[in-house]
Amino acid sequence: RQEEYRALRTQPNITKDGEEFTLMMNAGLMVDIPQLEESGASGIGLFRTELQFMVAATFPKADAQEKLYRAVISESGGKPVTFRTLDIGGDKVLPYFRNAPDEENPALGWRAIRLALDRPGLFRTQLRALLRASAGSELRLMVPMVSEILELKQSRELVQNEVRHLSKFGHGLPNKVHLGAMLEVPSLLFDLDNLMKEADFISIGSNDLFQFFMATDRGNSHVAGRFDTLGIPFLRALKTIADKAREHNTSLTLCGEIASRPITALALLALGINKTSMSPAGIGPVKDALLKTDIAALRSELLPCLENSTSPRCARTLIEDFAEKN
Ligand code: PEP
Ligand code: MG
Repeated sequence: RQEEYRALRTQPNITKDGEEFTLMMNAGLMVDIPQLEESGASGIGLFRTELQFMVAATFPKADAQEKLYRAVISESGGKPVTFRTLDIGGDKVLPYFRNAPDEENPALGWRAIRLALDRPGLFRTQLRALLRASAGSELRLMVPMVSEILELKQSRELVQNEVRHLSKFGHGLPNKVHLGAMLEVPSLLFDLDNLMKEADFISIGSNDLFQFFMATDRGNSHVAGRFDTLGIPFLRALKTIADKAREHNTSLTLCGEIASRPITALALLALGINKTSMSPAGIGPVKDALLKTDIAALRSELLPCLENSTSPRCARTLIEDFAEKN
């Protein structure tokens, strides 16, 4: 099938009934970049900057960070790249970071944007490297594990400070900085209007959002597969986000692993999430499934099921049956 998927790369991303969609890939190191061409991805929807930190023996210096970001941008050949700021902690451990406390619940602990805001020296170095590497182009930057909007506002202030600092010393700057939030913590579901106003774009990190939504550890094999990611409550949450993003005209992407599963990809587009980012191997199978689908027809079956269902697992069966008929 590999050859068939490769052949799809040049086909427009449009469903059988004419709805457009965008498929991007997740990356974290230079070795991932050739996959852009190979997979036919429209861009990098999630660049995990902590990977450079995880493979190193000590904190990468500012110039090493800048060098990597420059190389990623230039090797991506003009396709858009969204850089996620450091997502350290939880499942992403830095062995040389001795300041890290022993934590009983690392997933709920001192991690991601919490850690970045508490270690502004570390965060500012990264922001500066990203800004310098994006001189003359647009920088798309997103903040992981936002739990309250204040964290996004504080991040924006830090970005603005670095912009001022760089311009004072005559450095080139990005033409524009887009600052987005990852939606991974359920508290934001109850503050969506403010979030959509404050963020330049939103990216749903469904790995973490599902983990916190169902209180089920993503790395624990006894529970990681226990609940259906197409369960009705989770799909309702995704639809609420998609509706709000459309109402506020805020760009929305989903970048967790569920995006790489064809049946789930159908559900996401039916809910109105038309931009996703996934591991490169998922792009061919997902595109193949979406091209064949009359998404409006699926939507007209799925939405009533979301509203009326008393059975939490009915959506998967519905979509699988629908896909089978195609
Ligand atoms: C996610 O949580 O869905 C996500 C994309 O980020 P990560 O898997 O790196 O936590
Ligand atoms: Mg995450």
